[in-house]
Amino acid sequence: MRRTLVVGNWKMNGSKEANADLVAGIVSEAGNVANADMAICAPFVYLSDVANAVNDTNISVGSQDVSVHLEGAYTGEISASMLLDCSCKYAIIGHSERRQYHGESNLLVAQKALTAYKSGLIPIICLGESLEERESGQVEVIIGEQLQAVQSVMGADAIAKSVIAYEPVWAIGTGLTATPEQAQDVHGFIRSRLGTDAEKVSILYGGSVKSANAAELFAQKDIDGALVGGASLNAQEFIGIAAAG
Ligand code: PEP
Repeated sequence: MRRTLVVGNWKMNGSKEANADLVAGIVSEAGNVANADMAICAPFVYLSDVANAVNDTNISVGSQDVSVHLEGAYTGEISASMLLDCSCKYAIIGHSERRQYHGESNLLVAQKALTAYKSGLIPIICLGESLEERESGQVEVIIGEQLQAVQSVMGADAIAKSVIAYEPVWAIGTGLTATPEQAQDVHGFIRSRLGTDAEKVSILYGGSVKSANAAELFAQKDIDGALVGGASLNAQEFIGIAAAG
């Protein structure tokens, strides 16, 4: 049985002071969330602060990226072992903003996911199509290619212990959400490609999830939780989403 997972992606938002308030708000309401696990993916520099603030709660911590390299002369990069040192459990990999603004290819995303997994992090591997790709009927081709790259590099055992996030690019930060049926179609497609371990893998939906639309998304058979951007910056919204789990 897959347990609902709700992950907040703070992106490049926050400050020490604002984060302390936000996490305190989330922690104070966390007892109302009975049926979901929660995680906060904060900017690198705040990971230790957030980890300390959620210590002894049902909330985990994750990063928004990881280096493909293990250590060495890679200025500005953050390794998987550093993330583990800061109490991270998860690492978001291949978010569409990394693919779009940092030129991350399907191959690099797959290699990062493998590095994270081998180091002991749980990769949250993001897949998603653009509006143009959807409108030209390419959804399964694009998602299939992104997933295939991860499967070739990681192998089935590693994917079975990872998390996949389907995030249609056109729904991220736009206020447009895929309908539950649109999302379920793609989640079902992804699961159909996962082979014998398919039922073990959590597949999250991401794209303008809010407390008002979480329950109908989570009611879909292959939607196992959410990756939440904007709404994760509001404690009540984030808790409202997790409480729908
Ligand atoms: C995201 O950035 O992963 C995301 C889903 O953002 P939003 O919820 O704001 O659409």
